[in-house]
Amino acid sequence: MKDCIFCKIASGEVQAQIVYQDEEVVVFKDLNPQAPTHLLIIPVKHIAKLDEASKEDMALLGKLQLTAAKIAKDMGITDFRLITNNGKGAGQSVEHLHYHLMAGRRFLWPAG
Ligand code: AMP
Ligand code: ZN
Repeated sequence: MKDCIFCKIASGEVQAQIVYQDEEVVVFKDLNPQAPTHLLIIPVKHIAKLDEASKEDMALLGKLQLTAAKIAKDMGITDFRLITNNGKGAGQSVEHLHYHLMAGRRFLWPAG
C-alpha cells in the first residue's frame, strides 16, 4: 500500500536490517529496540491490524507465528515475548500488521 512504511520495507524501497524474508513474510530489526533482541515480523500483504485480517489470512497468520518461533529457536532464544498492538489505544503506531518478538531481558506481567 502506498505510503505504508512497512510495505516499503517489504518491497525493498526503504532499507531495514532484514534478518529473514520470503514471499509472504519479512522479519527485521526494530529501529527503536525495547529489548536486547527486538524484531518485527510482518506479512508482505498489507493488513492494517489483526482485527482486519480475514479467514483467508488464516494460514498467513499461522506462518507469522511459526516464523517468529523458528527465528527465536535459530537464535538460541527460548524465552521471548511475541505481541501485536491492535489499534492506537493499545499502542499501535504503524498501521501494517506486525508482531514484536522481544527477548533478552525480564518482562513485567501484566504487560504495561
Ligand atoms: P507499534 O507501536 O506496535 O505499531 O510498533 C511499531 C514499531 O515499528 C515501533 O517499535 C517502531 O520502533 C518500529 N519502526 C517504525 N519504523 C520503523 C522502521 N523504518 N524500521 C524499523 N522499525 C520501525
Ligand atoms: Zn503496509
